[in-house]
Amino acid sequence: MSKSKVVVITGASSGIGEATAKLLAKDGAKLVLGARRENRLKDIAKSIEKLGGEAAYQSTDVTDDDQVESLAKLAIEKFGRIDVWLNNAGIMPQSILSEKKITDWNNMIDINIKGTLYGIGAAIPYMDKQKSGHIINVSSVAGHTAHQGSAVYSATKFAVRAISESLRQEMVDAKNNVRVTVISPGAINTELLSSVTDPDVKANMEKFYESFGIPVDRVALTIKEAIDMAADAAWNEVIIRPTNQL
Ligand code: NDP
Repeated sequence: MSKSKVVVITGASSGIGEATAKLLAKDGAKLVLGARRENRLKDIAKSIEKLGGEAAYQSTDVTDDDQVESLAKLAIEKFGRIDVWLNNAGIMPQSILSEKKITDWNNMIDINIKGTLYGIGAAIPYMDKQKSGHIINVSSVAGHTAHQGSAVYSATKFAVRAISESLRQEMVDAKNNVRVTVISPGAINTELLSSVTDPDVKANMEKFYESFGIPVDRVALTIKEAIDMAADAAWNEVIIRPTNQL
């Protein structure tokens, strides 16, 4: 159960991260929130406290390993352990390859892939000592298939799945009871489209999300259920797609 578990969430300032933090807090989890927009984190922590929950937060850019390590230390200082680490921070500036948007490519690689790796690197030493833990990595339906324009975003989300399966096997070998789950959402109404830099792609995606997008609570609930699974079993991969999304 998520009750009284210490849960670290990256990208906790909006969307899936924020919704998951609030849902878990209602169930008694202790939250440690990281993202770049500290004001947002402060407001979310306050609303969690109003619900009777406990939350710590720290401005964290997941492209900086020192900042990610520092988020893990905050969890240990405040709550003494890390039960769940949710690698959720991500951006999706899709575009066709021939536009050669190198800054977008690099940002996706740095945030979606390296940010996930830094989160794993920060959490595992503590989980190893505890002989328990749960790493949850957010991939995407785009991590199962690619289409024109999704090349680099899909590549980063395929990478998240590859990293997760390799980590899962490593954890089994280490006999440390660390579970690994990949959550792959479809179209969920969040602020994610604000990271799209190509105006035509953005307009098309807005139409797509208007037609198919579903509320973010659906993903938060999926993550909570993965956490609530009995400790001797794990949902290793979950796709949560709107019923009407192609
Ligand atoms: P949001 O844009 O609402 O949330 C993204 C979060 O990532 C924000 O909290 C943002 O916080 C954080 N973030 C971005 N860059 C960094 C960074 N460098 N360091 C730390 N945090 C960062 O979108 P979602 O909630 O939808 O996205 C969450 C995850 O879900 C992403 O990995 C995304 O790829 C994935 N996903 C979303 C889908 C959807 O349809 N919405 C579908 C499939 C997957 P801040 O700017 O404050 O740093």
